[in-house]
Amino acid sequence: MVTKYIFVTGGVASSLGKGIIAASLARLLKARGYSVTNQKLDPYINIDPGTLNPYEHGECYVTEDGAETDLDLGHYERFTGVHTSQANNVTTGRIYKNVIEKERRGDFLGKTVQVIPHITNEIKDRITALGNTGNYEFVITEIGGTVGDIESYPFIEAVRQLKWALGRNCIVIHLTYIPYIAAAGELKTKPTQHSVKALQQQGVQPDIIVCRTEKPLTRSVKEKIGLFCNIDGDSVIEDGDVASIYDVPIKMRDEKLDVQVLKKLDVPVKRELDLQNWEAFLYKLHNPQCEVSVGLVGKYVQLQDAYKSITEAFIHAGAELRCKVKVKYVNSEELTPENVSEQLAGLSGILVAPGFGTRGIEGKILAVQYARENKVPFFGICLGMQCAVIEFARHVLGYSDAHSVEIAPGTAHPVIDMMEEQKNISNMGGTMRLGAYPCKLVKGSKVYDIYATQAIKQSDNQAIISERHRHRYEFNNAYLEDFKAAGMVPAGVNPDSGLVEIVEVPSHPYFVGSQFHPEYKSTAMHPHPLFVAFVEAALKFKN
Ligand code: GLN
Repeated sequence: MVTKYIFVTGGVASSLGKGIIAASLARLLKARGYSVTNQKLDPYINIDPGTLNPYEHGECYVTEDGAETDLDLGHYERFTGVHTSQANNVTTGRIYKNVIEKERRGDFLGKTVQVIPHITNEIKDRITALGNTGNYEFVITEIGGTVGDIESYPFIEAVRQLKWALGRNCIVIHLTYIPYIAAAGELKTKPTQHSVKALQQQGVQPDIIVCRTEKPLTRSVKEKIGLFCNIDGDSVIEDGDVASIYDVPIKMRDEKLDVQVLKKLDVPVKRELDLQNWEAFLYKLHNPQCEVSVGLVGKYVQLQDAYKSITEAFIHAGAELRCKVKVKYVNSEELTPENVSEQLAGLSGILVAPGFGTRGIEGKILAVQYARENKVPFFGICLGMQCAVIEFARHVLGYSDAHSVEIAPGTAHPVIDMMEEQKNISNMGGTMRLGAYPCKLVKGSKVYDIYATQAIKQSDNQAIISERHRHRYEFNNAYLEDFKAAGMVPAGVNPDSGLVEIVEVPSHPYFVGSQFHPEYKSTAMHPHPLFVAFVEAALKFKN
């Protein structure tokens, strides 16, 4: 089958859930046995979201190949289980950077370099590159932002050109919002009409309109939208409120979004839709038999998207265990020795979050100490693991000034340090350890058993796992023997570099810190073993 291209644009307002619609459609096509990949084009000028404050843009999601990407890629992977890569997230900044580099090299042979065709060609190349791999029957490309934004013009123009060139192998799905005006008791289609007009003004006719709405769309509302927007009423899809984002694929199946898509792309609707496993997951998700509260200690607690993959990983693990996991956000900046026990009281597990910089770090260390001393299940991720190491060094090994060189470059006990080969690199972007690295688990450790029982090991004998990283600093192996002797042991080590990737405290009911980010690999169909084990431990603690 030739690759089919599907674009998802948005209008009326942002935050309507384009990413979830794109991911849900991918889930449905996959459930019909097709190979699918999701892509996100972001109109901002940053080269990638790696340098963006999580307050601005939510979490930065890291792919296997170490790309720092938009959090929507996390949704794509969690819904489909298909790994994404740098090619799946392209920003305006990256497009321009590439075009300008080509210009400097003289690739354009003296021509004037312009938005059309040079920028639009670069955009089109990035889209079709995924299809050209030959790996996918469907490429679903979400255009960030809202139609009409100045920044998104070149992207919409590229869509227009591709749609013209690809004919029946390309469609556009436009996501809009239908407000309900309570005083009039009516759903209003006008904003949608305007939004579609804006798209048409840029030369793009949508093939399907998906309408976010809090009330059911009547047939007459659908017909009306169809009439004003040149499409048939069947191609107007209702996207109403659901209990969980994971219900959206079912909702879209019921609305026949996938059938409409296949028809418009001239693909016979022959293959059966198999959502059995997905529905089994939803059943477990919506019918918990118990409840447990865990604390998420971090400094970005005002914007919950900042820890998106972690909270989603809790949802997956909770469903697996038929247990509703209630996540309490704890602001590490507000934790003090005086209030820590009150703030963390009633929690059956404590997760200390990843992060960068000094702000809130002492609160995180306090949370670790509380969890360790009170035998509350603990899970530290990246900076959270580093805090666990610092806390152990200070209060068990007695190095009261122990710290990470990220925060205290002059500390006499740099238990978290920078690798030698990184010390001379000054460009912040170049020094991070990013993406998947192997880790050899230590036989006999708790973590080894956790991975073994969950059977996601990649090779049986060696217990080699692969997990994703995003950090600059590392456990300082000069202290390894001290830690081991005092009861904090490595549970997994990088087989090539010897770097400690995961630690545990065997004498504690559950105390695990990972330098890597397991949350990036948790999906609806494959909850991450470390999250499952942590929730299990929290449940045990509660009872
Ligand atoms: N700031 C720490 C480092 O760079 C941890 C990073 C993280 O938590 N992602 O090593």
